[in-house]
Amino acid sequence: MPTPATYAASPTDKALADHAILNEFFGPVPTAARRTPMRELISTLLSHRTTHADEELAYDRMLEAFGDWEGVLAAPLDDLIHAIRTTRWPATQAPRIQEILGRIKAETGGSFNLDFLADWPTERSMTWLTDMPGIGLKTASLVLLFNFRKPVLPVDAHVHRVAQRVGFLGPKVSVEKAHAVLLDMLKPQLDPEGLFNFHKHNYWLGQQICFFQKPNCPRCPLKGFCSYYQEHYGEATPEALAATPKHWDAAAWGQLPH
Ligand code: SF4
Repeated sequence: MPTPATYAASPTDKALADHAILNEFFGPVPTAARRTPMRELISTLLSHRTTHADEELAYDRMLEAFGDWEGVLAAPLDDLIHAIRTTRWPATQAPRIQEILGRIKAETGGSFNLDFLADWPTERSMTWLTDMPGIGLKTASLVLLFNFRKPVLPVDAHVHRVAQRVGFLGPKVSVEKAHAVLLDMLKPQLDPEGLFNFHKHNYWLGQQICFFQKPNCPRCPLKGFCSYYQEHYGEATPEALAATPKHWDAAAWGQLPH
């Protein structure tokens, strides 16, 4: 059963109630990795301010043009920039990709495989990844959580916005700082599978319901303890709570993204 929470609940209680309720609303997410570690790392780098379709196009064109990671590493920079031209900043990302591939090659003795991270402690893995150009906490956390089930929590703009509106993250906490704040709050309660579901569910809520402009609060199952809702509409009435859908209706509202 979802954890009861009120508008005045502590941040931790709100975060755990958010997790329990969204787990029912969206359903538990299978924990299989969505793509290989190398693809997760490089695709997430390419995805910055770029649509999913354009990110995939850039990734596919890059490997079609140069064959494999060794070929991408050795490619003339201008040719690589051209191959990934559908990303937002190809001239910035191309040298980053080559720098990253060079470091992975050096670490693995010539193979381009990140599986060694499975055996490294989480902190060492995080430090090694975030030391690479263009790899921030979000990208490193996605790789470590999605592919290696390390106990970390990726925080993107959607997760960050939902957390601040519901009221379990302070209004001045940046996306970068939110990684540590939310992880400290949730790690004692959630294993990597729970953290994975927390990330996916809040990402979906932010993308599909809690929009940056005009959040769709009537559809949202968090209205009973969301600070934003209380500030804008007052405490949710029994009628508003009763009218709230219990589950995501894919037939009516569409399939959830990857
Ligand atoms: S009640 Fe509204 S503001 Fe609060 S999380 Fe839901 S959609 Fe966002």
